[in-house]
Amino acid sequence: MQSMTDKACPGSGKSWTVDIEGKPICPRCRRSLATVAGKGRKIKDLPAVPRHDKPSRATSKNTRRPN
Ligand SMILES: [Zn+2]
Repeated sequence: MQSMTDKACPGSGKSWTVDIEGKPICPRCRRSLATVAGKGRKIKDLPAVPRHDKPSRATSKNTRRPN
């Protein structure tokens, strides 16, 4: 049985992490604050990662994952 939480990225509700440029990103899917929260949002207003959809492998062409 699928619940709604299954569609959310596991990073939802967690603290932000930062990329190598120091920009806040989701600790799980590594999408930027602007991507998961919307443009113009500030980390100041969003101490935790807002709920957002789980990343889809099909659309992660922009994501580079270091080994
Ligand atoms: Zn995420």
